[in-house]
Amino acid sequence: MNKIEKNIKLLKEIPPAKSLFINEELKPNVTTSFNCCNCSTINEINITPYQTGYPFFQVYKNNFLSIKNVLSNNIASRSSSWASHLGEYLIDNLPTLYYKKKCDKCGEKFLIIFGLGESQPSKWVCKISNIWHINEIEANSSS
Ligand SMILES: [Zn+2]
Repeated sequence: MNKIEKNIKLLKEIPPAKSLFINEELKPNVTTSFNCCNCSTINEINITPYQTGYPFFQVYKNNFLSIKNVLSNNIASRSSSWASHLGEYLIDNLPTLYYKKKCDKCGEKFLIIFGLGESQPSKWVCKISNIWHINEIEANSSS
């Protein structure tokens, strides 16, 4: 699990094997997988509630990924006013987190973004927005 610390370019969207987890499916952690688009290796995704991930707003506040890209690629949407304390752009108004993962075999980089929280009283949800194959680019290069 790594942070994003450079500007990134989204290359390809990859659906996880399963993207929505509810209540018992979150215990003890969320487990699914995706296929690396470079070498086809199956990579595991493990999300432990309250341990895995960094706040997603760090990515757009630092402009590592523009808000335009966040919205046009349906990664997250503008939060409702009652959820705005969680961030301006969220997945289904849930606290939204991300982490960077390298393919276990070829080392290509992927961005995993998910919302995790109580969507209504006693209903806990983890929703993985798609996985993105990414390229990290130097801050000064144009793209
Ligand atoms: Zn790979």
